[in-house]
Amino acid sequence: MRKLSDLPSLKGQAVVLRCDLNVPLSAGEITDDGRILASIPTINYLLELGAKVIVISHLGRPDGAVDLKYSLKPVAIRLGELLEASVSFAEDTVGPSAMEASQKLQPGQVLVLENLRFDARETSKMASERQEFAEALAGFGDVFISDGFGVVHREQASVYELAKLLPAAAGLLIEAELEVLTKLTTQPERPFTVVLGGSKVSDKLGVIEKLLPTVDKLLIGGGMVFTFLAAQGYKVASSLLEADQINTCKEYLARASSLGVEIILPTDIKVASNFGKDAEFVSVPATDIEASPFGASGIGLDIGPESAVRFAKEISNSKTVFWNGPMGVFEFENFSQGTFAVAEALSKLDGYSVVGGGDSAAAIRLLGFEDSQFGHISTGGGASLEFLEGKKLPGLEVLG
Ligand code: AMP
Repeated sequence: MRKLSDLPSLKGQAVVLRCDLNVPLSAGEITDDGRILASIPTINYLLELGAKVIVISHLGRPDGAVDLKYSLKPVAIRLGELLEASVSFAEDTVGPSAMEASQKLQPGQVLVLENLRFDARETSKMASERQEFAEALAGFGDVFISDGFGVVHREQASVYELAKLLPAAAGLLIEAELEVLTKLTTQPERPFTVVLGGSKVSDKLGVIEKLLPTVDKLLIGGGMVFTFLAAQGYKVASSLLEADQINTCKEYLARASSLGVEIILPTDIKVASNFGKDAEFVSVPATDIEASPFGASGIGLDIGPESAVRFAKEISNSKTVFWNGPMGVFEFENFSQGTFAVAEALSKLDGYSVVGGGDSAAAIRLLGFEDSQFGHISTGGGASLEFLEGKKLPGLEVLG
């Protein structure tokens, strides 16, 4: 993969920089600027070299049409505050405003173009449409730098086709992300524990399969637990269940035991009367969820207190921990304790912790932890899982 350091001098060059500035917004306010902060080192590096930097990114899912709720303008403003450099904003993506602003851009200055996904061609299923959009984007620069780690697993115009049209390389964020993830798969300090949660077991099966031969312990929480419990023959009442994955979970349990890997499931579950923040709840043994007062309509929304203590202890006894996916519905305070216990143990780890993006990163910030309390927080949940699964990521392959 070509890196920034492989490119000839960028002085005076117009650099199109693909970032992932897909930050959460609430009423037009940025609620978590982690992704903007993560993009700063590459931007500063390019500015110091005397390049003109044209930042492109998506935000949310505006479905290929202009929807100002998803405008990148607040992001451009925040970027300007963080960079202490001149940051201008184009009101369109490849239209007249973007053209005019890019022509005025001077070395050492930054221009942010409007949301890539306001144009349906960015994520079109038709290669010819993506190609057309990539050609329009390529018109803004002499060089392309890909640094949106959160989107490298997507074959989209600004990630894939664009990289073939200009001299292209990966930015510093992608370099840093890959270094951490590669270390996890090749030489983790042991014991190496992986903690997986979140809602969908089917999203995590690939990573379980790939990591089983490498890990010492695998802790499983979140909604995906119930398919594993069902695979062991237990009833899970109305908790999340992916019935078509039960057999695969059975296979993994058997394979783990033959490899000497401990798969640790919760021994107790917080079962709720319904899915809601004010739902009644009770903790019951994981082997007997239907015995809760809510019977077959009970829903497991968090790991129980005994499991939270056990998971925290297993984490504390490890030297390397990778964590992806909350242990429960952390968005509801009553069901955030399992996730809190994992985050707290990870934050105090005498070793190296990696938080795998997306919801886990959102959870630690919502629960009051600082990014600096963790070894590395990946900016890409899906991308980091696919990388750990050993899949080929189009946005990286194209830089090869
Ligand atoms: P994922 O995108 O697969 O990482 O899932 C993250 C989501 O899983 C979060 O929004 C959590 O609220 C949700 N989640 C975690 N545990 C459960 C559970 N036991 N039941 C339903 N949803 C859950």
